[in-house]
Amino acid sequence: MNTIQEEILELKARMGATILVHNYVDAEVQDIADFCGDSLELSRKAKANDAETIIFCGVRFMGETAKLLSPDARVLMPSKDAGCLMADMCDPERIRAYKANHPDHLLVAYVNTTAETKSLVDICVTSGNAERIVKKLGPERPIMFLPDQNLGANLNNRLGMKMDLWPGCCPVHHAIAASSIEAARVAHPNAPVVVHLECRPEIVAISDAAVSTSGMLKFVENSDAREFIVGTEAGMIHRLECAFPDRKFYIIEPTPICKNMKKITLENVRDCLMGHGFEITLPQDIMETAVRPIERMLELS
Ligand code: SF4
Repeated sequence: MNTIQEEILELKARMGATILVHNYVDAEVQDIADFCGDSLELSRKAKANDAETIIFCGVRFMGETAKLLSPDARVLMPSKDAGCLMADMCDPERIRAYKANHPDHLLVAYVNTTAETKSLVDICVTSGNAERIVKKLGPERPIMFLPDQNLGANLNNRLGMKMDLWPGCCPVHHAIAASSIEAARVAHPNAPVVVHLECRPEIVAISDAAVSTSGMLKFVENSDAREFIVGTEAGMIHRLECAFPDRKFYIIEPTPICKNMKKITLENVRDCLMGHGFEITLPQDIMETAVRPIERMLELS
């Protein structure tokens, strides 16, 4: 542990704060976390721990979700401008227009959306529970799935459904190419390929598993393989290496990097604990309406 990490742990103890770190944040920040996980796991941890102050090391929509689920907690972000390119692809005005033109449609939103988007939809899903929840919703009402067209298309393929898909994606996962998977297989012929469900369907089709980040941990746990090719944001490699020190993990090349996740550094986590963080505040009407689709998800999952 280096000096700044020790300083952070000391400040955190003094403040009584909980540090939550997303799987995609840099390894040195993951190492000072109270909990590491995907966005929903982290929000659930925040709620379950009754934390008064949460330092959320991830992108803004994740801090907003934590705030929605723990309204009494002070949620602080170390970086003001760590946004999510995919969440930004949902313009609330366009969603309102879509709803006005498609009053019969159920709006199902990936949890990777802003609080304002959540306030406009019927139910949220995560990459870990989307298949189960969409299946439960069934074919009764037509569905618009937003904002990830890749996750939506992968669900359509798996469930034989025809959900409408919002034209959005995670550019980090969308960029993963078939040639990268093929090259990794040649370099590591004994390693199964596990990719994120945000990858394009043609990438999912040539992989051994397409799951969420928590699904990756389960996949490795249940596999006899000793080495794995991983197709998701590079921060996940550290998470997997910590969980399975006896296995080997190879990130797909070119390395998928989310620049926004990398805006969280040890320095700004320390500054956040010293009173220079950015508090998540949401208007009361958004607090009330945006939590509903998350609660519906939790009921169904
Ligand atoms: S990896 Fe993709 S979905 Fe996740 S924060 Fe970055 S841009 Fe958004």
